[in-house]
Amino acid sequence: MLALALAAVVAAAQAPQDTLIYNLAVMPAEPHLSVEARLTDLDGSPVVLVMPPAATRAGTIIQGISATDDRGVPLPVTRDAQTFMLEPRAPGAIRFRYRIDFRDSIPEGSTSSGMSTHSLYAVTASLFVAPDPVVLRKIGRPYPAVRIRVLAPADWRVISGYPTDGPVLEPAGGDELTGSTLAAAPDFRVYNDTAGGAPVTLAIRGHRYFSDSLLATVVKAALRKGEETLGPVPVARVTYTSDIGLKGRTSGSLQGDGSIGLVWEPGEVLERARAHDTFHETLHLWFGGAMETERWWIEGVTDYFAARLLAAWRNNPGDLAALCYESYYNYLAIQHNTRLTMDEEARRGLLGDNTQLLVYRKGMLAGLLLDAAIRRATHGQRRLDDVARRMLALAATRQTHYIREDELRSAVRDVGGADAALVWDHVVPSTELISAAEVTAALHDVTGMDFPLPPRLKPGKTFSGEMPPGVIR
Ligand SMILES: [Zn+2]
Repeated sequence: MLALALAAVVAAAQAPQDTLIYNLAVMPAEPHLSVEARLTDLDGSPVVLVMPPAATRAGTIIQGISATDDRGVPLPVTRDAQTFMLEPRAPGAIRFRYRIDFRDSIPEGSTSSGMSTHSLYAVTASLFVAPDPVVLRKIGRPYPAVRIRVLAPADWRVISGYPTDGPVLEPAGGDELTGSTLAAAPDFRVYNDTAGGAPVTLAIRGHRYFSDSLLATVVKAALRKGEETLGPVPVARVTYTSDIGLKGRTSGSLQGDGSIGLVWEPGEVLERARAHDTFHETLHLWFGGAMETERWWIEGVTDYFAARLLAAWRNNPGDLAALCYESYYNYLAIQHNTRLTMDEEARRGLLGDNTQLLVYRKGMLAGLLLDAAIRRATHGQRRLDDVARRMLALAATRQTHYIREDELRSAVRDVGGADAALVWDHVVPSTELISAAEVTAALHDVTGMDFPLPPRLKPGKTFSGEMPPGVIR
């Protein structure tokens, strides 16, 4: 009931041409952000603003919200756990302000936020108190035109994942407002280029084994290989923000449609693993962006394509074999590997990093086994890529971009025939254990080469890969 009442309130409050302007002041001396916003063209009804959905989980603390009319007369603010209701006395603009503090000086990972005296890294989901885009959509109201001015010290560079850059950032709506990254520091090195037909911005802080040129080369290769395999880069611009993380914690993630955060531990040296992660996050532009479907495809099949395309780019099929066998050993170590299907695991919301979840590890093997089955059945004429492209085309016709699992299976069957459908039934809706022999045979079908199962390596002690689910993929 409350939600409906709020919806009505918001509907009444905002005309189509509403504008919402944020001035976001970066205050490094005592690290915090000071935000002032102005929401215009109101008809005088109460306005409901929601807390950033990721505020607490992503390490920010929002406090001290207050509001006035345009002449500075205070307006009452009614607050509950998630929302602020502002009540203007007459039609006109509302100004509101608040302060953002950061739990951490260095972000815990790419889905978190952190600020120190010399740097800021944030996911924008943790920054903006704003009207709720879901509510506005439900009642058919356009989102206010949003403008953001970041007021940072003169020697700081501001990096955002919004499609426009410059002194004023212009997210295209509420989803984009909270679906990006925002970083600032004096020592960002910024490279603008195009790859796979799309503009790409790469911003890097810190110095590590991965030189700027190596990371830039990997990023461009990932976009180019993605475009070759899956079709045009589906966003207007891609931004990679590569920042220094905590010791022992390396992660990457896609925020919103086109902003990729890579927060790596300072001494990161694993070239193949990090290149694979970068390919994985890049391929989320297609799987997870242009097309939404079951989590095992979005994470696992993405991981498979990332490994295969990385190996193709490096002209080293051994990379694919090494990454698949690593995945296989991780899969064997997952306690529930014959107890739950990937779908059941996803529905139970089990937590863990990407080495501990079937949707990643078995999902990657599913990608490999399906690709191999299709190639085998069609004498190399077709591959999993044909299924993917078909599904991406279908997703493009739908507002939600959502593809159902039965549609994926039908496409696998259409492209690869009954034998490929049998592999699907063995791997996807089943808890049967995948054998090492199957992985070896599939690698042969895909690469034309023999890669025997390598000895098991000791598991690493540090976290790396994607952040656990629950924040933002
Ligand atoms: Zn992912």
